[in-house]
Amino acid sequence: MRKAIALIAHDKKKLDLAIFAKDHSKVLTKFPLIATSTTGGVLQDKAKLEVERLLSGPQGGDLQVGARIAEDKVLAVIFFRDPLTAQPHEPDVSALMRICDVHSVPLATNLGTAEAIIAWIEEQIEEGTLNG
Ligand code: PGA
Repeated sequence: MRKAIALIAHDKKKLDLAIFAKDHSKVLTKFPLIATSTTGGVLQDKAKLEVERLLSGPQGGDLQVGARIAEDKVLAVIFFRDPLTAQPHEPDVSALMRICDVHSVPLATNLGTAEAIIAWIEEQIEEGTLNG
């Protein structure tokens, strides 16, 4: 089975992520999608995507995504962070970013890098070099 793409957004960025996901639904739907709970709900509602919803971020959802990364089940993480609002679960966010670095999993934290990841995935699909 293909590895999953993880989608997460802080509250003020959820709509931006839904628009991004809708724009790129053709490529995203080629993969299992996982998301933290509230983000996943917004993606289901606004982008009509089928998403496995984990726990909400503040309840441990970011750590669940991290665990999937450690198990080599995640192709890339798209995480629209809010750089202007303090998050109570900041340690979990740091842990998620750290585990991405440990396993060299591409992590996008804004629209620019998210577009770059989509382009990278599309290229691999075209070349047939996507593993798993
Ligand atoms: P949420 O979690 O999708 O449940 O809001 C995201 C986060 O804040 O990490």
